[in-house]
Amino acid sequence: MKEKLSVIKEEAIRQIQGADTLEKLNEVRVAFLGKKGELTAVLKGMKDVSPEDRPMVGQLVNETREAIESLLDETKDKMEKVAREARLREEVIDVTLPAKKNDVGHRHPNTIALEEVERIFVGMGYEVVEGPEVEYDYYNFEALNIPANHPAKDEQDTFYVNSNIVLRTQTSPVQVRTMEQGHLPIRMIAPGRVFRSDEVDATHSPSFHQIEGLVIDKNITFADLKGTLAQFAKELFGEETKVKFRPHHFQFTEPSAEVDVTCFKCGGKGCRMCKGSGWIEILGCGMVHPNVLRMSGIDPDEYNGFAFGIGLERIALLKYEIDDMRLLYENDVRFLKQF
Ligand SMILES: [Zn+2]
Repeated sequence: MKEKLSVIKEEAIRQIQGADTLEKLNEVRVAFLGKKGELTAVLKGMKDVSPEDRPMVGQLVNETREAIESLLDETKDKMEKVAREARLREEVIDVTLPAKKNDVGHRHPNTIALEEVERIFVGMGYEVVEGPEVEYDYYNFEALNIPANHPAKDEQDTFYVNSNIVLRTQTSPVQVRTMEQGHLPIRMIAPGRVFRSDEVDATHSPSFHQIEGLVIDKNITFADLKGTLAQFAKELFGEETKVKFRPHHFQFTEPSAEVDVTCFKCGGKGCRMCKGSGWIEILGCGMVHPNVLRMSGIDPDEYNGFAFGIGLERIALLKYEIDDMRLLYENDVRFLKQF
């Protein structure tokens, strides 16, 4: 029995020293000290030992067990220490090195301009509404009082998906979709991307952005339109800004006007920015045409309203004095960083 125990002990020591991972060490622990382990088997054989020898053999078994256990624990501690030290060495941080610079992006000039316009109109109680970029011909033209034979529908002006569907040429169809829902009164702006089959140059692009505005209520007059846009111009370009309405023609408004603001660079004296005139054109507007109201199911004898359309790029170009629209789309970081 004594001999058997010393063989078990030696074998255990040999295996412990041979274990190179914590998993293997645990396997050794199970093999010798586990429920079906070799030492446990010896304990089960105690019944065959004569009663007078039992205390001596029991002590031997315990000693062997303790020896194996303490060697296992010691080896485990050593292994964990080595692993911990290796990890610390790997994770060492040299605090004298310069910090990594995080390049934080920022909003595109178009987005900054849009958020500014939205802020102004939301402050006046307007809702921001969006609509589809791929639009039915009906919403883009017909319902806006632009009949089938109108030149605005020319294939050279418009991208057709098929004869009924176009890439919207303006954000005005969102007006029609909102009016059709019949929740009156309406005070909304509709920002979004629009498309025209234009050649790319300093002031044109086949894809650009508009912000459409619409108000429908009882007893709306041209004075409301003027007051609203004058307030908008002041908030966007400065308190001193004046507005000028020039008669114009749009299919979906009557009367219609184009709106100029006093040049915010020279204050109206005349400079390169305003081409010496003192005024800068910023948007088109007018009182909603009775036909447009009627087609959307609104009685023009009861309700009326005004609409306006702003070119977002135009606002961004003016606000940041950018002289070429293409710069807004090229997304050259060196350019975008300046705003
Ligand atoms: Zn000027």
